[in-house]
Amino acid sequence: MNRILVAGAGPVGLTAALALARRGFAVTVCESGDALAAESRASTFHPPTLEMLDDLGVGGELHERGLLSPRFAYRDRREGLIAMLDLAVLGDDTRFPYRLQCEQSKLTPILLDHLLRYPGCGIEFGFHVAEVAQDGGVTVTSADGRTVHGDWLIGADGAHSSTRRATGVTFDGITYPERFLVASVDEELLDWLDDLASVNYVFDPVEWCVLLRTPDHWRVLLPTPSETPDEQEYERLGSRLRGVFDPGRPWRVAHAGMYRVHQRVATSFRTGRVLLAGDAAHVNNPLGGLGMNSGIHDAVAYAAAIATGDDAAIWAAATDRRRIALEYVQSVSHQNYERLRATDPDARAAHLDGLRAVAADPARSRESLLRSSMIASLRPVPA
Ligand SMILES: Cc1cc2nc3c(=O)[nH]c(=O)nc-3n(C[C@H](O)[C@H](O)[C@H](O)COP(=O)(O)OP(=O)(O)OC[C@H]3O[C@@H](n4cnc5c(N)ncnc54)[C@H](O)[C@@H]3O)c2cc1C
Repeated sequence: MNRILVAGAGPVGLTAALALARRGFAVTVCESGDALAAESRASTFHPPTLEMLDDLGVGGELHERGLLSPRFAYRDRREGLIAMLDLAVLGDDTRFPYRLQCEQSKLTPILLDHLLRYPGCGIEFGFHVAEVAQDGGVTVTSADGRTVHGDWLIGADGAHSSTRRATGVTFDGITYPERFLVASVDEELLDWLDDLASVNYVFDPVEWCVLLRTPDHWRVLLPTPSETPDEQEYERLGSRLRGVFDPGRPWRVAHAGMYRVHQRVATSFRTGRVLLAGDAAHVNNPLGGLGMNSGIHDAVAYAAAIATGDDAAIWAAATDRRRIALEYVQSVSHQNYERLRATDPDARAAHLDGLRAVAADPARSRESLLRSSMIASLRPVPA
């Protein structure tokens, strides 16, 4: 049985591992942590990702843990609701015409549980990939000197990927001036704000934000200056939340985290018998929920290509996934960022009018949603 190595047990590495296991490969996942990460970063699953996870046999369990979100909203801080887009218009394009709101930390245990049912498949916790040698196959050495050998290595070890560094691939792009502050709150925003969807992009030239519902919390994402001390930002979080809605008391904040945000793409997604996937290959801002989703798409594409045994098909998958990262994921996520924070009043008004017109026209809604739901990144769509 051929063995494939996967670095990293995040959503992307474990999807790759399960997709390969289902195709009959033995798989070893090398994970630096002592357990799966509990941090809840990504929370939105788009329709094509739901299709892929369903094909891998984990869709039902993911749905049991998530919230269906058939609509999402564009709002303006001052004007309230601008447009509500309904994914039901994608009913002929996907068997899942909605977003599923569910933290990535709920997906990874499901994927691992399924992976471990396959003979020859396992995970090594506490295995920090330190060295990668290509010797016909690939030999990976951990920081504490353990080695594993396989035919291929999928590097899904996150934005600071050791796999990427070990193969000498550079990670070109930009870092945004702001950091993003994400607060998970124990409040019911539906009691406070009218016309809320589970995902709401809120435009404002000064204090734009995103309001997202997960099964356990509402989350508020706020931009934060680059250089201010973290403590200062956590201190003023309360007053910023009361700027979203003032209930006459402090909001109950369950936890908050600060993220520096980059737009970067690796110069190559393949080096010999090493493939890069997910955040190891590309990172982008979280606006639009594209990072984990596109990483899962990488994982599924690589598993299918490796299963062909055709070197040209594996090159094609790596090249295609890099093209999609550049042409689609980077461009849509950056456009989302620019629009949320636009300051020019005429440009803002034109954009908001454009969104109202799209929401009022099912054909234009479908066209827009095919792109934001990532369907258009994966396949030609009929008119
Ligand atoms: C606030 C926020 C919100 C987001 N929301 C969304 C969203 O709604 N939708 C979306 O699609 N994306 C979203 N993202 C992005 C998403 O979280 C990432 O794209 C996703 O986690 C990438 O998955 P991954 O498996 O590639 O990497 P990771 O989740 O980072 O997993 C990498 C794994 O590799 C391990 N590892 C690291 N180094 C090594 C090593 N040397 N050896 C072995 N193991 C190693 C780590 O411990 C980890 O388990 C968001 C991000 C943030 C910060």
